[in-house]
Amino acid sequence: NPVVAIVGRPNVGKSTIFNRLAGERISIVDDVSGVTRDRIYAKGEWLGKTFNIIDTGGIDITDEPFMSQIKLQAQVAIEEADVIIFLTSVREGVTDADENVARILYQSDKPVILAVNKVDNPEMRAEIFDFYSLGLGEPYPVSGSHGLGLGDLLDSVVANFPSEDENAEEEDIINFSFIGRPNVGKSSLVNAILGEERVIVSNIAGTTRDAIDTMFVDEEGTKFRMIDTAGIRKKGKVYESTEKYSVMRAIRAIERSDIVMVVLNAEEGIQEQDKKVAGYAHEAGKGIIILVNKWDTLEKDNHTMKEFEEKIRKEFQYLSYAPIMYVSAVTKQRLSTIPAKIKEISENQNRRISSSLLNDVLMDAVAHNPTPTDKGRRLKIYYMTQVAVKPPTFVVFVNDPELLHFSYERFLENRIRDSFDFEGTPFHLIARQKK
Ligand code: GDP
Repeated sequence: NPVVAIVGRPNVGKSTIFNRLAGERISIVDDVSGVTRDRIYAKGEWLGKTFNIIDTGGIDITDEPFMSQIKLQAQVAIEEADVIIFLTSVREGVTDADENVARILYQSDKPVILAVNKVDNPEMRAEIFDFYSLGLGEPYPVSGSHGLGLGDLLDSVVANFPSEDENAEEEDIINFSFIGRPNVGKSSLVNAILGEERVIVSNIAGTTRDAIDTMFVDEEGTKFRMIDTAGIRKKGKVYESTEKYSVMRAIRAIERSDIVMVVLNAEEGIQEQDKKVAGYAHEAGKGIIILVNKWDTLEKDNHTMKEFEEKIRKEFQYLSYAPIMYVSAVTKQRLSTIPAKIKEISENQNRRISSSLLNDVLMDAVAHNPTPTDKGRRLKIYYMTQVAVKPPTFVVFVNDPELLHFSYERFLENRIRDSFDFEGTPFHLIARQKK
């Protein structure tokens, strides 16, 4: 999806506009313990086009003086967004801070749309002409609090999206990415794997100028695209170490991936932020492999791996389907087995099970573990069918969906997983009432 960023000095109303433009908010998971919802990133839709929207005001870099905060936000927008909304306010008119932001935005070749907020009534429209002086073209009057002018603004945003065929999805390529906290070793892994794979096809520009994807082909001719979101291979900016920025980058990588490598640092164990990004990959229905990197740094005995696995399974209960690999970007331990594993997971997430096989498993499961009752009524299961892949999605027809409790749903999922190989992929089970 194209990315839209809103930039501007504090108090112009960025969050209000963000909330107006954002439809469904992208939540960073879920019912898993301790995971918060992130507010800086959301999905929007206009004229049938979906996009992701960033509130750069949410990326606060503490201890930075006012102006450098705004500059950093503008830089994030320039690097991450396809279209930038530069928000000002008619109440204060054109300020020095606005002019500073404009100067940074001139230097980018991303489309910038100038919006003037707080134009709460038509009489105030005359005052927006001052904003032509910012040199960014026609100012769009809007009112976040009254919801005015947003349609025209969105028309212009959508008209400036990059043309779609540039990023056309190719069916037979497996897209994968590395996500994780700063310093877990993502860049090192990317570079080490590129060192191992001799058949590099090309470096291609991704959705933004800064993203460099790499394609390679294995011996059997399977094509892989390693997604490198902006900057993973050229680092060193202040804001990259902020948690929100790295979460945002992870979300973008996840969206473009079929399979996500969740990278953990063996030295540091599992941290809250690890759960956040992993949770998002899970929610997004992507294939997942857990990579425990820096495995070379541990003093190991016979139990080390088992103990680590137990910790991971406990902390990431919802990822019980994800395989775990213990690797090192430095010694290259097991790196050569990663593409084969990715391929396996790709097959699993694309697997289709015939309804007859599925119903054999279902009948067998019900025979071994009778369906639950609730308030004197028993769940009846009639039939199950697979309706989608990536992730595999099953519809089960029942007498009353409310009777299919979580624990029985889990049981059915496990029986299906025992019978067919769905390692590495989440799985959706939808209950429908049989008419
Ligand atoms: P990123 O922020 O996730 O991209 O992390 P980097 O790839 O920049 O790695 C952070 C630091 O960890 C660097 O100093 C790397 O040299 C080091 N590092 C990465 N992978 C390994 C590994 O497998 N073993 C060891 N010992 N160090 C590693």
